[in-house]
Amino acid sequence: MKVVLKDLTKIFPSRNKNGQEVVAVNNFDFEIPDGKLIGLLGPSGCGKSTTLYMICGLQKPTSGRIFFGEDDVTDLTPENRGVGLVFQNYALYPHMTVKQNILFPLQNFKGKDKLTKSEMLERAYKVAELVQIDELMDRKPSELSGGQQQRVAIARALVKMPRVLLLDEPLSNLDARLRLQTREEIKRIQRETSITTVFVTHDQEEAMSISDYIVVMKLGVVQQIGEPQNVYDDPVNLFVAKFLGTPPINVFEGKIEKGKLYIGEDAVLNVGDVADQEVFVGIRPEGFIYDKNGALHCKLRNLEVMGRDVSVVSTNEAATSPIVRSIIDADNKVDIASESVTFSLKPHKTFIFNKETEERIYFEIAQKAEKVNSEEKPAKKPAAKKSTAKKTTSKKSAE
Ligand code: ATP
Repeated sequence: MKVVLKDLTKIFPSRNKNGQEVVAVNNFDFEIPDGKLIGLLGPSGCGKSTTLYMICGLQKPTSGRIFFGEDDVTDLTPENRGVGLVFQNYALYPHMTVKQNILFPLQNFKGKDKLTKSEMLERAYKVAELVQIDELMDRKPSELSGGQQQRVAIARALVKMPRVLLLDEPLSNLDARLRLQTREEIKRIQRETSITTVFVTHDQEEAMSISDYIVVMKLGVVQQIGEPQNVYDDPVNLFVAKFLGTPPINVFEGKIEKGKLYIGEDAVLNVGDVADQEVFVGIRPEGFIYDKNGALHCKLRNLEVMGRDVSVVSTNEAATSPIVRSIIDADNKVDIASESVTFSLKPHKTFIFNKETEERIYFEIAQKAEKVNSEEKPAKKPAAKKSTAKKTTSKKSAE
């Protein structure tokens, strides 16, 4: 079932006379393809939960429409939309067994949807098996681990055979190991059921790892929508570039002069016909090449051995953060006794952004840069590809 969000906006009125209204979601326009898992991602307060609650019917949009397939569900109650909702805090009934918790939503079915007792049991056991809790059916929630409780919550949402599954930070209460395990489980369950699913999280790694598409939001506005790897590789602005990636992207103040990109005094890349201007430069940790003749000079601080890779911790006066972190192959023997370290840059891992708008400035890889880094695939888009977040959104949504 595809889900279409059409110019969805939610404005919360101010609580007092002189207060400000809050635009929690601003013109969200996207078509979620049938059977896909979408990760809604962004910092606290960016409007993720409000978007989810509008899809499920707990919040009414100020303007815009919501369609499930061809059905306009904007004015339907949550019960009549056919959604399954899973919250962060499981919200199981403590006095009921797992089986009773899962059966509970089915007991409210009325009219033609009403099920016999054996039909209900059959469904309950089927979903319990799917989420692998069929052996725990007679336990109470207090006798389960956090991960098991969350599986019960998912089973309870699935047993209604919802048209759309909505998950609001479902892994937040789990410890690190269980989070990892449960997120893989969610992906498996979603694949097996093919239910269109919206997953809300502020954890970019989590969203990237399980989503077919991610939607990055900031202050109620969608910044970029796309497949996780594409958004990581091709961020439309500095916010998106900074939000995705662990370790995070390194950001420098820089300038473009006569077709060259400078960080401090170092001319680090040829950027073709981009106009002279001050810029922010974002370099992914894996975008550095350890190179004795490299153009970017940093002060070496420390090396962190990670096995296959080495994390080089250095400083640079133009960096906007106290340290620069680059990840290089462990085969490179960096001299720890040395005070400085030099890098050349992978052009397709180096992004430049307008200093004021923080929008991406696209550049063509110059011959020279390709030659220096001949092992790298040539990047990037022509300058004409530059687009606003909104344009990207609608373009991607057509996918
Ligand atoms: P978090 O990750 O912290 O849950 P979020 O991205 O889910 O954040 P929302 O809960 O959707 O963000 O909130 C978006 C904005 O709307 C915030 O500024 C929040 O304070 C505001 N907001 C949410 N619910 C209400 C409400 N009922 N009344 C007024 N403002 C609200």
